[in-house]
Amino acid sequence: MDSAGFDPERVRADFPLLSQEVNGHPLVYLDAGATSQKPQQVLDAEIDFLLRTNAAVHRGAHTLAAEATELFEDARRTVAGFVGADEETLVWTHGATEGLNLVAYAIGNATAGRGGAASAGLALRPGDEIVVTEAEHHANLIPWQELAARTGAVLRHIPVHDDGTLDLDAAAHLVGERTRVLAFPHVSNVLGIVNPVAELAELAHGVGALAVLDACQSAPHLPLDLPALDVDLAVFSGHKMLGPYGIGGLYGRREVLEALPPFLTGGSMITTVTLDEAEYLAPPLRFEAGTQPVSQAIGLAAAVRYLDALGMPAVHAHERELERRLRDGLRQVDGVRLLGDAEADRVALVAFDLDGVHAHDVGQVLDAQGVAVRVGHHCAQPLHRRFGLTASVRASASVHTTAADVDAFLDAVAGVRSYFRVHA
Ligand code: PLP
Repeated sequence: MDSAGFDPERVRADFPLLSQEVNGHPLVYLDAGATSQKPQQVLDAEIDFLLRTNAAVHRGAHTLAAEATELFEDARRTVAGFVGADEETLVWTHGATEGLNLVAYAIGNATAGRGGAASAGLALRPGDEIVVTEAEHHANLIPWQELAARTGAVLRHIPVHDDGTLDLDAAAHLVGERTRVLAFPHVSNVLGIVNPVAELAELAHGVGALAVLDACQSAPHLPLDLPALDVDLAVFSGHKMLGPYGIGGLYGRREVLEALPPFLTGGSMITTVTLDEAEYLAPPLRFEAGTQPVSQAIGLAAAVRYLDALGMPAVHAHERELERRLRDGLRQVDGVRLLGDAEADRVALVAFDLDGVHAHDVGQVLDAQGVAVRVGHHCAQPLHRRFGLTASVRASASVHTTAADVDAFLDAVAGVRSYFRVHA
């Protein structure tokens, strides 16, 4: 039991996959930033739905279809509540990448004149500006590059300081009367630092721009109240927050969702269709064309119930202890350079370079000892370039990580340079 009343060993025991050995060693899983492991409760919820209730939702009058629809909408209420939102403001997506593309394509459709008067206010004109940060995952960068290319808008970025914090003075200068969208991560998937969301949202709103938040790396780790953060749109990803693959959420302020034209079109998102045209449902269903990932939504609801039962403040406190242990330990290892070492509110995710050893080689040596980390650019090439690197090693924890996991990882890292006979 740690100081926040959180029992890491008991939590770990809920994750069946973690009890195995890899390469003859107990598995130390420190790649939760890529995808988290899933507790038995999530697996049970998904299997139970598939065994007893499986049916298509929002169509069909038979008993199973009605029960499946009720469970699906109940899942929406649960997941929306987890991020402080009302169910009408939560759109299911297949993941955060799809959510961000949905937003960018919908704004592009508004620019093309779709959506009528309500959408006109979202249309971009040539020379309008979309601002992102230098610390984006490619999922919150490339959709905006594409939107800029299609509309004549200009893409700009807020730089990152050497310590990994955003240059807020530069942001205040960059965000101006031509800015229409300010998109940024709550927590970068390389730096692990919690960005000042409310401050950035206020900056966007001061010039009438939309604030779009990538909450992939915060939703599993921090108490989250998206309406209170005052962002217009936000995405998160089920598989990173103990839930299944193929499910994610897009939160939108009610007026913004109502103004956005759809991205994907087809079945289940319409009221009336003729051979020439179609009328669309109100949000959130307007954005949910086609058959939905129903069992995955039910699994995600089980995941957030699991996190809620642990208590997100206790989860954050536990992971802050792991984060300090990780960074303090890595700083003791010769040749380690941490990427973005600011003292700030953080999650337990840290990327580093080990002088003289390529990240992929570090990963291989750790893997041989049962330690799973991410190596490469982590879908953040511009940020790596900014730190003069093409790749780094990233260790990322979750509720299922213990102090013993961190210590095993640190022991393994400490031996890497001698393994390769690299000396200072
Ligand atoms: N944004 C961030 C910060 C991420 O870390 C990731 C996943 O690595 C994504 C977006 C993409 O999420 P998804 O896998 O749900 O598409």
